[in-house]
Formats: sequence, structure tokens, C-alpha cells
Amino acid sequence: MKEVAIMGAGPAGLAAAETLARHGVRVTIFERMPSPARKFLMAGRGGLNLTHSEDLDLFLSRYGRRRGNIAPALAAWSPSDAVAWAEGLGQETFIGSSGRIFPKAMKASPLLRAWLRRLSDLGVEIKLRHAWTGWNDAGQPLVSDNGLPPQPIECDATILAFGGASWPRLGSDGAWRATLQAHGIPVAPFAASNCGLLVDWSEHFKSRFNGEPLKRIAATFAGETQRGEAVITHRGLEGGAIYALSSKIAAQPAEGSPSTIELDLKPDETLEIVTARLRRPRGKDSISNWLRKCLKLPPAAIGLLREVRRDLPGDPDDLAKLIKHLPLTIAGIASLDRAISTAGGVPFEALDENLMLKHRPGTFIAGEMLDWDAPTGGYLLQATLATGVQAANGVIAWIGS
Ligand SMILES: Cc1cc2nc3c(=O)[nH]c(=O)nc-3n(C[C@H](O)[C@H](O)[C@H](O)COP(=O)(O)OP(=O)(O)OC[C@H]3O[C@@H](n4cnc5c(N)ncnc54)[C@H](O)[C@@H]3O)c2cc1C
Repeated sequence: MKEVAIMGAGPAGLAAAETLARHGVRVTIFERMPSPARKFLMAGRGGLNLTHSEDLDLFLSRYGRRRGNIAPALAAWSPSDAVAWAEGLGQETFIGSSGRIFPKAMKASPLLRAWLRRLSDLGVEIKLRHAWTGWNDAGQPLVSDNGLPPQPIECDATILAFGGASWPRLGSDGAWRATLQAHGIPVAPFAASNCGLLVDWSEHFKSRFNGEPLKRIAATFAGETQRGEAVITHRGLEGGAIYALSSKIAAQPAEGSPSTIELDLKPDETLEIVTARLRRPRGKDSISNWLRKCLKLPPAAIGLLREVRRDLPGDPDDLAKLIKHLPLTIAGIASLDRAISTAGGVPFEALDENLMLKHRPGTFIAGEMLDWDAPTGGYLLQATLATGVQAANGVIAWIGS
């Protein structure tokens, strides 16, 4: 029986393991943390956006310059395969209003439990607290069991699935980058992607509104507008609309005045409509009450208006302009350790069409450690899982030959 070692028990490694084990290959996964798939579980806290329902052409466009590199993975394992897979593990899915697909449970733990049970039934062994440290001179992968001196692993092929470098406390710390480079394997520099924005909120605002969502807003930076949701945190703003702008904000030169984004708190209504509503007689209502009643602005949005402009204008035209074009000064973007994903990684140019390293035959790469990036919307997990399947298919072709 052929033996394959998979390094990293994130979704990429687990998807590769399932594909290989179904093919009758003996699989051992080595994971440095005391439990598997910690980032996947963290993704579940936001509802676990598994994939997206849009058509494949638009879906692929989300990978930008890497579209052509990700297309074979999605051909091997499509968004409908992702849905069928989750449902096969007992997790019904639904399509949200934005077209994003989630498990109905809106969390990862039941899906992961069923997945690990299935892998165990297929004979996959997961060795926890086992960290890959590199290769010996014979080209065998080296693994350290709980900090002991690394030992070589006997196997017919290896899949590396170490993830990116964000949220290092969940396991994927990016330490593999230096090791790969020391072995002559190119790795594009890491950069934070899909990350939150830092805002110097007042103490009052952050203690009152930390964790509050701003639903259905639009955020604009340097001519690019993103609609969606934002979430107020004690550090600034998170959420889909914000993540989508973060790379652009990060790319602007650090010199000069701080960046400003513009928020539209009523993106579904024109300035004229908002103004007309505000012109109606206010009676004895305070401005806050008035905004709540006539525009249905939630307390967090009203609080944000007041955070930016302590004395809200009484004039309906000025108030409407503020609601539609609220300027917000950004102190910076969150660092890599708090980003949703990592740009950079092993470039596809170093791999063959089966995700095998050209200069290290028998070693394959999958998941977020590859040099691709995408916005939030289910594109990250879809490509992670699909490249896991693609690499496993590559291994099957390799060890069969
Ligand atoms: C807060 C948050 C929310 C997210 N929400 C979503 C979402 O809703 N939808 C979506 O599509 N994506 C989401 N993502 C992104 C998604 O979780 C990642 O893209 C995905 O987990 C990447 O999978 P991976 O298997 O490539 O890497 P990882 O999940 O990072 O797994 C890599 C594994 O390798 C292990 N490892 C690392 N180094 C070694 C070593 N030397 N030896 C052994 N093991 C090692 C790590 O401990 C880890 O378990 C979210 C991410 C975050 C941080």
C-alpha cells in the first residue's frame, strides 16, 4: 500500500487526505497543534462562508491574476462539489441574500466533527503535536514529535498544507517560508489581505458599540466602492465591505496625511430621497430619535455619525450629506496576525500542473500557502479545499506512475 504524508491538518490537508484515502492510499497527517483545523473553526465564528453561488466565470475572476492557476482546482472540485460535500457530512447549506453559501448551522464545529469521523473511518491517522521542520539530505520530510529531535518520515509522496501566516496562534505561523527558501524554493513575500481597518475611536464609542454590525452600508476609498456589512470593533472596523478595500488602502504610500474612507449609511437611497425624508416635520423628536424613526438608522450608525461629528447638523441637507458621505479617518490597517488571509506564498511557477514542486518531485503544495488571494465571500475556502483535492489527484497520478 502506498503511503502519503500530509503536513498540516487545516481544510486543505484534510481535503487532500479524504481524496487520497478514498483512493486506497494510506494517509498520515502531521499537525503541529494539539487539535486540527483551528482556523477553520475560527472561520465558523463568522458563519463559515463555504463558497459562493455565482456563475463560474465571475467566481474565477475573484482570483485576479491567479484566475488561470485556480481554474484547474475548481475544475477538479467545483462550488457545487463543496455544497454536496458539506451536505454529505450532514450539514445542510443555504444561499444567503448576497449569493454566499453557508451551512445552516452557521458554524464549523459540526461539519468538522463529521469530517474527522469520516477520515478516521477511511483509516486516516492524524498525529497531533507533530511539526514538520524540513528535509534531510536524502530528501525525506523531517517531523518533530512534541519538540523532540526531528525524525525522517518514510512515505511515497508528501503534501505540504501549512496555510498562510495570519492568526499564528491558530497554528499557521508562516515559519515554513524560511525553511522552503533555505531549500531553494521561492516564496513570494507575505502580506495581510482581507483585514480590518484601525480607527482611533473615543473610549465612549468603543465601549458602547464594540461588536455592533453596520448592515447594508457602502464604503469608498480612492474611487472604489464596496457594499456590504461592517462590524465595529474596539480597534476599528471589520467586515466584508472593509476587507474588500483593505488591500487598496495598504497599497497607498504610507507618507502624507492619514487615509480617509467614506461611508454611506443609506446606500439603497439617493441623497435626494434621504434629504426629502429629513425635511419632514421633526416635531419634538431629538435628532437621534428622528434618524431612527425616519431613516431607520440603528443606534450604531447614529453613534458613528456622532463619533465623527459631535454636533449633528440640524439642517436636513447637511445631515443627509453626512449620512451619505461620512468621512472616517483611518489610523492604519490591521497587521498580518489579525488578517483573514495571507497574500504571497509558493508561486505557481515553481509547481507543475498537479501542484508538485518542480525541483522536489513527490512534494505537493495545497491551500493558502500557495500564492493566490481572493476577497471574502467563500472564495478562500473554496480554493483551499479544491487545491487540496487537486494536489491529492496529482499525488495519485505520481505514485501510480
Ligand atoms: C477569522 C477568520 C475567518 C475566516 N472566515 C472564512 C470564511 O467564512 N470563508 C472562507 O472562505 N474563508 C475564511 N477564512 C479563511 C480560511 O479559514 C483559510 O483560507 C483556510 O483555513 C486556509 O486553509 P489551509 O488548510 O490552507 O490552512 P490553515 O487552515 O491555516 O491550516 C494549516 C495547518 O497547518 C498547520 N501547520 C503549520 N505549520 C506546520 C508545521 N510546520 N508542521 C505541522 N503542521 C503545521 C497549522 O497548525 C494548521 O493547522 C477565515 C479566516 C479567518 C482567520
